[in-house]
Formats: sequence, structure tokens, C-alpha cells
Amino acid sequence: MAISRSIMMEDVTELQSYLAVPRDITLIAHRNPDGDALGSALGLRLYLEKKGHFVKIVMPSESPNIFAYLPHFYDVIVFDLRHDDARSALKEADCIFCLDFNGLDRVDKLGATIQASEAVKVLIDHHLDPEPFVDHMFSDTEASSTCELVYNFIEDMGDANLVDEKIGECLFTGLITDTGSFKYNTRPNTYNVAAKLKIAGVDDYKLNDTISNSLKPKNLKLLGHCLANRMEIMEDYGAAYIYLTKKDYSDFNIQRGDTEGIVNYMLMIKSIKVAAFITQQPSIVKISLRSKGDISVQKIASENFNGGGHKNASGGAQYGSLTDILDKFKRIIPDYLPKIEA
Ligand code: 5GP
Ligand code: MN
Repeated sequence: MAISRSIMMEDVTELQSYLAVPRDITLIAHRNPDGDALGSALGLRLYLEKKGHFVKIVMPSESPNIFAYLPHFYDVIVFDLRHDDARSALKEADCIFCLDFNGLDRVDKLGATIQASEAVKVLIDHHLDPEPFVDHMFSDTEASSTCELVYNFIEDMGDANLVDEKIGECLFTGLITDTGSFKYNTRPNTYNVAAKLKIAGVDDYKLNDTISNSLKPKNLKLLGHCLANRMEIMEDYGAAYIYLTKKDYSDFNIQRGDTEGIVNYMLMIKSIKVAAFITQQPSIVKISLRSKGDISVQKIASENFNGGGHKNASGGAQYGSLTDILDKFKRIIPDYLPKIEA
């Protein structure tokens, strides 16, 4: 925090004067938005609107419906559904905020639109290795979530008093989802921000209940299938993986968001240090990686699967068959985890 803080204050001063008059501002977060991407965008929107700006939100793809309780959820312009509107929202903006992603490849085709735009570009993000494609960068890779950083941004702008229950609900959502309800990725500041949001009126019990207890019976059936039939343990290395085929997707009628969190179950096994969730998508195979402690799955994802993310939570994807990526995962694991002697 200390290092990025000094850089931040200069940027804050510039943005304070730039945002002193109403602007057309477009917010964008990463493909397959999660609670942090949505919460940071919707929370920042409410704040910027209170300041008199005209705000639009663009996401490359659709969001899971469990987050439909967030204000303006249905006003998000989804590129996959509305190509032209999404492009115009970015092209016509005076200012673009890039939230919860560290490189233009995370927003697919919209990356080129952002790059070509002459808007003032601001990044607020906590992923490792941010790319320098913006004018103002608020990157803090120690932060629990982008929502934590958006709260600090509002505070640094001198507007903590504008954070109300609605903004708080948006930002608390990202705190919950990116820390597994405060189980990992936390630092003292995370709890400070949580406390301030709670003081602003957030009912965190209700929010946790809405986010965690929102499954349908089919989700638990799918989880049962994954754990009983699709999980392989590599005992010698403390790794495990679960895979899903295209047929599983149709058999279980799997929709966006239905597989959220399944990867974490493998880490409940004491000896498992790295877990992978590998899914056969229509044209690619996607891998989600999680780890415990010092083992970096960001390294595994970036060195092998065209991906990245955080030390303990990363992802990637590649073309090819499901078998190819499963074989690759099994082959490379010994390069990252020492063999456990019996
Ligand atoms: P998830 O496994 O939940 O999809 O993603 C976990 C983390 O890895 C997120 O922070 C996400 O941004 C990052 N991530 C997931 N997929 C990719 C990918 O294909 N490329 C990169 N660079 N990061 C990814
Ligand atoms: Mn995040």
C-alpha cells in the first residue's frame, strides 16, 4: 500500500480537478464479471452520479443473475448482446474507468476500442502485473478486491461522506466474493473498509445470505457429480482437479455462474495445495486454479495456460481437446509442487 499510495495522491489531485465538472464516464470490467467486477462498477457508478456525472457501464459478457439485487444491474450494456451500444459507450466517453482487470486482453474485442479512445483512462485493480494502458493507475495487488480500492478512491477524493447504504452494498459484495466471506486475501485495510461500509448502513448478514444461499437444487446435484465422478487427486504432489465435459454441460443444464466456487472444495482436503477446475467450453477449454499459501497459481496460469490473475486464484484457457489440457496439467504439476515422500 505504502508504495502505490504516493503515486496515487498525484493522480487523485489531477482527477479531483478533472472531475470537478460533469463528464460522460464509461465504466468497464472484465469478461465473465464476478461480484467484485460488478460491485466495483455499480458502486462507482452511484458515487459518480452523485457527483453529477453521466455514467454508463459496459461488460464484455453477461453477469450471473445472483447479483441482480445490485442497483442498475439491468442497465449494464453487455457487449455480447449489444455490440454497437457497447462500442459507442466507450467511444463517446470523456473518461473510462477500467475496473478489476489488468490488461486489455481481459475485455476481448473492446480492448482495441479502449486503446483507440482518446478518453482519460483510469485503472482501479488488484491483479498482478498491470499493463500500463491508462493515464491514471490505482493498482494495489495486496488489496482484497477492487471494491476495497474503489472505497479508498472515493475516500481519497474527499467524498467518504457520499458512501451510502446502496454504494456500500455494491462495494461490500466484492469484499465478500473476492475473500470467500473474509476467509482469504484480507489485510487490515479490508476490515477497515468493511467497518466503514457497515457504518454506512450495509446489512452484511443479509448480503452474505443473498450471495451464499442462492443455489438451486441443480447446483447441488452438479456439485455432487463433480465430487463423486469428476474429481481426480494427485496424491504424490498435493494437487487435485475436477473436469467437466460438453456433455456434462448439457446433462446438467449448466448456465453462467452455475460452476462458481466448485474449485474451492478440493482445497478442503488437508493435503491439497493446488486445485484446478477444467471445463470444456464451446470453442476453448477453460482452467480455473486455486492454491494455498506460497504456491503461485498465477505462475502456473501465465506460464502454461495463457492466463494470469492472483497468486492464490488464477485462470486461463487454451484451444485443443479436454484431454490435451488434462494431460498438460498432470505433466506440469511436478514442476511446481515437490513430490510428497510417503
Ligand atoms: P476464475 O477462476 O474465478 O475464473 O478466476 C480467478 C482469477 O483468475 C480472477 O482474478 C481472474 O481475473 C483470473 N483469470 C481467470 N481467467 C483468466 C484468463 O483467462 N486470463 C487471465 N489473465 N486471468 C484470468
Ligand atoms: Mn477482483
